[in-house]
Amino acid sequence: MTVLDSTALTADFWAAAARRELVRPVCRDCGHSFFTPQVACPACLSEDWVYRPSSGRGTVYSATVVHKAPSPGFTVPFGLGVIDLEEGWSMLATLVGDRLPQIGSAVEVTWVERDGRTQPAFAEATS
Ligand SMILES: [Zn+2]
Repeated sequence: MTVLDSTALTADFWAAAARRELVRPVCRDCGHSFFTPQVACPACLSEDWVYRPSSGRGTVYSATVVHKAPSPGFTVPFGLGVIDLEEGWSMLATLVGDRLPQIGSAVEVTWVERDGRTQPAFAEATS
């Protein structure tokens, strides 16, 4: 029986984030990109996947403004959205900028420092 260690599962993601590189799990058997990292590919249940770089470019699938802090350390209000990345995967992330991006608008990854580590966030694309 495999013992699940979620820290080991995400260690390479956070190591890449510390270098300001966005990566996502890609299944070596079926090619599916997915997020969040998990033991098995959600498309084919293969456990053979690797992290691959993402362009960090995508579009806003949904966006909202959070007014109640989910835990201490969050400064409210802040934008939160689901981003569809151009490689065919999605992630929930903080939205930064002067205004909340509209659904369907182009965004690109940027980086914020929180809880002692570098985390991806998204802002309206500049190009
Ligand atoms: Zn797969």
